[in-house]
Amino acid sequence: ALQNKVALVTGSTSGIGLEVATVLARNGANILLNGFCDPKEIENIQVRLKRKYEVDVNYIGGDLTKRIDVNTLCQKVDSLCPGGVDILINNAGFQHVSRIEDFPLEKWDELLAILLTAPFLLTRHFIARLKEKGWGRVINIASMHGLRASPNKAAYVSAKHGVLGLTKVIALETAGSGITCNAVCPGYVDTPIYRKQLERKALDEGCDLETAKRKFLQPVHPTLEVITSEQVAELVLFLCSRAADQMTGSVLTMDGGWSAR
Ligand code: NAD
Repeated sequence: ALQNKVALVTGSTSGIGLEVATVLARNGANILLNGFCDPKEIENIQVRLKRKYEVDVNYIGGDLTKRIDVNTLCQKVDSLCPGGVDILINNAGFQHVSRIEDFPLEKWDELLAILLTAPFLLTRHFIARLKEKGWGRVINIASMHGLRASPNKAAYVSAKHGVLGLTKVIALETAGSGITCNAVCPGYVDTPIYRKQLERKALDEGCDLETAKRKFLQPVHPTLEVITSEQVAELVLFLCSRAADQMTGSVLTMDGGWSAR
């Protein structure tokens, strides 16, 4: 159903982004990958997706905490795909955990840049072309931390709250043009970002990973289960479908019951 569409998925060399790229490719979209990774692994991903789904898969690197790299990425997309992108998935991100009084200023700047400024800059660059085409999807992979706070995550929580605001503005500015913009707010998803926090918990509490998981999820996910990248990717796919034509400006949670608390 997504044949001839081009999807740019930031941070698609790992975790949620890689799964979103895979699911979109499976549905016929040509993929522009982005993210950090060693070149061999990037090539593996490209070859695997191309062979399996017979779509175009290109990789454009760039550090999305840096405005100059975001600009270069936009230029490279323009020369590779003169028609522009049809689907923009703002997904790249990382976490930094620290008390406010110790929070490194450069981490604050980097997190705001990658989680909030990069989605704004990419949308700003591609939006005019999307309007001309009369169809488009902008999907921001936000987080439950866009709706709820946790201690020691000042930059991440602030940026994720911010990107929900950006989502709503984009939705209003594109309303009626065939473009939709929505945000997905996952709880904890089983990816390297989550596993790193789990390992730290196990270390801090001197327990095994299974116990750490229960302790970690107990205050957040009433289901006590972690979400999979595939589950998030299927929600993104739904947002790209015709069934979601009238969904815009929405904030979709997938959170093991977290927001019901
Ligand atoms: P991940 O670490 O598996 O993947 C992050 C991706 O972003 C990788 O491809 C990485 O190379 C890329 N990336 C990191 N820094 C970058 C930079 N400076 N420039 C360009 N690319 C960069 O993480 P994930 O868990 O899949 O996270 C993806 C998104 O989902 C993030 O925005 C994250 O905040 C969000 N999220 C994750 C969880 C979770 O529990 N894992 C929960 C809610 C939201």
